[in-house]
Amino acid sequence: MTTTALDLTADVVIVGGGPAGTWAALTAAAAGADVLLLDKGYCGTSGPTASGGTGVWYVQPEPAAREKAMASREALGGHLQDRRWMARVLDQTYENMNRLEAEARYPFPVVDGVAHKRGLQGPEYMRRMRSWIKRAGVRILDHSPVTELLVDPAGTVAGVRGHRRQHNTDYRVRASAVVLATGGCAFLSKALGCDVATGDGALYAAEAGAAMSGMEFSNSYAIAPAFTSVTKTAYYGFATFFHGDGTPLAGAGSQGGRSVIAKELLRTGTVLCQIDHATPEQQALMRSGQPNFFLTFDRLGINPFTDKFPVTLLLEGTVRGTGGIQIVDDDCATSVPGLYAAGDAATRELICGGFTGGGSHNSAWAMSSGTWAGGGAARFAAALGSSAVKRRLTGAGGVAVRPTGGRAFDGDPWAEAQDVLRRQVHPYDKNYLRHGDRLRPALTELDELWQRLRAGASADPAGTPRLRQAAAMVAHARWMYTSALARTESRGMARRQEFPDLDPAQHRRLTVGGLDELWVRPESLLASRPELAVAS
Ligand SMILES: Cc1cc2nc3c(=O)[nH]c(=O)nc-3n(C[C@H](O)[C@H](O)[C@H](O)COP(=O)(O)OP(=O)(O)OC[C@H]3O[C@@H](n4cnc5c(N)ncnc54)[C@H](O)[C@@H]3O)c2cc1C
Repeated sequence: MTTTALDLTADVVIVGGGPAGTWAALTAAAAGADVLLLDKGYCGTSGPTASGGTGVWYVQPEPAAREKAMASREALGGHLQDRRWMARVLDQTYENMNRLEAEARYPFPVVDGVAHKRGLQGPEYMRRMRSWIKRAGVRILDHSPVTELLVDPAGTVAGVRGHRRQHNTDYRVRASAVVLATGGCAFLSKALGCDVATGDGALYAAEAGAAMSGMEFSNSYAIAPAFTSVTKTAYYGFATFFHGDGTPLAGAGSQGGRSVIAKELLRTGTVLCQIDHATPEQQALMRSGQPNFFLTFDRLGINPFTDKFPVTLLLEGTVRGTGGIQIVDDDCATSVPGLYAAGDAATRELICGGFTGGGSHNSAWAMSSGTWAGGGAARFAAALGSSAVKRRLTGAGGVAVRPTGGRAFDGDPWAEAQDVLRRQVHPYDKNYLRHGDRLRPALTELDELWQRLRAGASADPAGTPRLRQAAAMVAHARWMYTSALARTESRGMARRQEFPDLDPAQHRRLTVGGLDELWVRPESLLASRPELAVAS
């Protein structure tokens, strides 16, 4: 039985308490806003950053170093990045990392008297972010998934509704501005820390009228030992891969090697690995850098430096892809007034183009975009002033909260959605080794599932967050495949088997949107850079 709903107010609501959400909360509070942060897990331990070590795009403010940093992955990203945004992120990340040391006393390792700030231990980082925002006066509600946005009659975002799991109570927050920092969508593939990354924020943004960008670049797959969910991938740069019979798997360790691994897994189900190129000194550094990488090996008595072990590829979707909610200004505002987006929930195309795969840009984007979104939301709230509390609020949510009716859903909508996602989104031959002949039928089944969810899926209040997660994942899959079909070339991580080359005429970003009916359209062609356009 659900007890009475809780009614709250705040100037700024932050949805999600990972790095993006906590930096947003800190900035909004510093600007004088009354801030409430809501997390469906526990802010400080929830999400992929909190689960491991994270590299950070921290570059000294020296012109040559900055130029090198920006140029380094432009070809990989298909030249869809924006240098102005990259420079902003480098500046903001530099400032935030220095603040972490000075104000949050983060214990960076010191070598030869110099603090090394190109990485953070996730659990320590997020523990400090939690206490830092509490000191700044931010209120936190843990275990309280937001289930929909509230809008005023003009369509301006005016609050959120959600559910407190531990109290079995619904809640409503009236707010002047909302920041969505709910992370990406990893389709419940069991990748490390990604059990909360179901893309909820993007669904809510779309329901309020926002669009997505870069959704074709949402098929990141990470290597993991077959017996774990640990998708920390940096150490595989020191590895050799083998067929099941122990003979070397040619090409698997090179750039593009993951497609070799994917093909072998599809063909035989087995790929073996050995991290055999690390010196004893490097092995020791690896152990201290990522202790949780070794935990399961140690428990199973496997030495990954001398023994061969089976690996798999786990889908990380937009967590280490780049797609997300489109932002329209330097404050990370969305196209919907009162709504801001940050971190993995927002598109990272501006700094990553069509490729991240990890390696520092994501964490830099999370802390930078969080900072800007929090500041923008606080300014929006201040400008709205006391008129904010007089607005009439309506729920913007659709699927699973306001069924359109008709036929009730046959069976269990959650189980059915999981089944379709497992068959149509997780498999390498559908989402990774993409071909239109496989994408189109997959999209048809996802569209059909969406229509049924929209019409008939519903649950009691305690079950609503789970159904909303299912809807968010199905929406992501449909945006992803719709964009993938529209990009008839190979660029960044969006590769099509029947279009293996980069097409200079498609040197532009794609925007996708809609829920019941989807649309996709190209942004205008980016400034022509012919010398770069053929490089990817
Ligand atoms: C294994 C792994 C290793 C990685 N390593 C690196 C690395 O070395 N360098 C790098 O740059 N990036 C790395 N990344 C990516 C990086 O972790 C993410 O980019 C980063 O965590 C994004 O931060 P975020 O705050 O946007 O989202 P998250 O960290 O995902 O946080 C989102 C938060 O929102 C909450 N939430 C979700 N939905 C709701 C809802 N409906 N209501 C309320 N709360 C909600 C979640 O509980 C969570 O706390 C890695 C990712 C993985 C999976």
